[in-house]
Amino acid sequence: MKNSSFYDNVPLPSDDQITNCMRCGMCLPVCPTYDLTKMERHSPRGRIKLIKAVAEGELDITENFIDSIEFCLNCQACVTACPAGVEYGQLVEAAHFNIEEHKKRKHDVPLIKKILLNWLFLKQYRLRLATLLMRLYQQTGMEKLVQRSGILKLLSTRMHDLSFMLPKLNGYMRYPQQTAPKVKTDRPVKVGVLTGCVQDVFFNDVNHDTIQVLAYNGYEVYVPQNQQCCGSVHGHNGELDTARTLAKRMIDTFLEANVDYVVINSAGCGSFMKQYGTFLEDDPEYNEKAQRFVKKVLDISELLTNVGFIAPEGELNLKLSYHEPCHLTHGQKIKQPPRQILQSIPGIDFRELPESDWCCGSAGIYNITHYEASMELLERKMNNIKISGSDYIVTGNPGCLLQLMYGIKKFNTPVHILHPVTVLKMSYEKANGVNQNSR
Ligand code: SF4
Ligand code: SF4
Repeated sequence: MKNSSFYDNVPLPSDDQITNCMRCGMCLPVCPTYDLTKMERHSPRGRIKLIKAVAEGELDITENFIDSIEFCLNCQACVTACPAGVEYGQLVEAAHFNIEEHKKRKHDVPLIKKILLNWLFLKQYRLRLATLLMRLYQQTGMEKLVQRSGILKLLSTRMHDLSFMLPKLNGYMRYPQQTAPKVKTDRPVKVGVLTGCVQDVFFNDVNHDTIQVLAYNGYEVYVPQNQQCCGSVHGHNGELDTARTLAKRMIDTFLEANVDYVVINSAGCGSFMKQYGTFLEDDPEYNEKAQRFVKKVLDISELLTNVGFIAPEGELNLKLSYHEPCHLTHGQKIKQPPRQILQSIPGIDFRELPESDWCCGSAGIYNITHYEASMELLERKMNNIKISGSDYIVTGNPGCLLQLMYGIKKFNTPVHILHPVTVLKMSYEKANGVNQNSR
């Protein structure tokens, strides 16, 4: 099967894993798109059957096939549930790659997708420039004017709804720097920090907070200024050549810095970067480098709980719940570390969120490409948040942060959304007598 042209240029696990699906259906109850539609072709089992049929030449790449694959959130809940170890994520990536090639041959790639993937996300300065324009749009009052005028509604209801998705961009963009004093510990560990794309432009404060938390814990912090996108958004959307180019740049950047660990505060980026080894296994120049690099990649919660963190002492009286990002809980199998960190903070009233590992509907650019389905998932999440009775929802992925912030507005849910490192930093600052608003 792997020799089929369907898989050319696509990294895959062994043939056994691909053909391992025994059609048991244990993945069906955890699949959000199956839950929404109750249709087999929108379930993991149904998609695997379709992918095999296309790979074996029994089925063409039809509109139905494309719809089935593109409706998938790539949340990987099915991978966690599967008793046979089917590597669904890699199968669906292969399908996306073939769909993109098919669309390119038919000149059918939407312009917005071309702009996002082949221009905006290729260079960090372009993203920063776009963000600057968005800030001006908000700060000059243009955004409110456009929203109130209803002009977008005349063009498209979808466009009108999407215009509320942009979060309030406060303050100014800055290069994240260490301001907290580096605590002396017996931990001579040098960590490189990924600033990311979406995290950098929308949640610059989270990068800042990550660096302060690392300093409070005695880590030596290095933030490369020349880093670019990790390639995850390209990889999940079938642009594998671009994703590989970006992966190689990322590997060079951090290996040259000679850090002990590469620390990630964005679940989607971390999940993808941990796959660089498989992704570049056929590249003679980068195979060994990728294996070496992957061993260094850790989510911030993983680093703190595995390598060590100082017990926070600043009391925070917050009612708080944790939403699990799919690419942390299913993609990286990290469930407890963020909870451990949050529950170690004095004064926190930690409440388990019902269905904490059910996708919020963000899923990369899914909330733009499949707005209605994404909003159904978001409504379910916001209802669970109301049931939790918490005032703060904490989650470690910028896509989830954006989606939940939109959920507050759309479903009138009065909660605050924070990243776990921000809560931890608040506790350290309180214990150190730092004014929470001054940096
Ligand atoms: S749980 Fe695994 S083996 Fe069972 S149907 Fe789903 S993908 Fe196939
Ligand atoms: S990745 Fe998520 S949406 Fe896609 S098939 Fe698996 S469980 Fe369903």
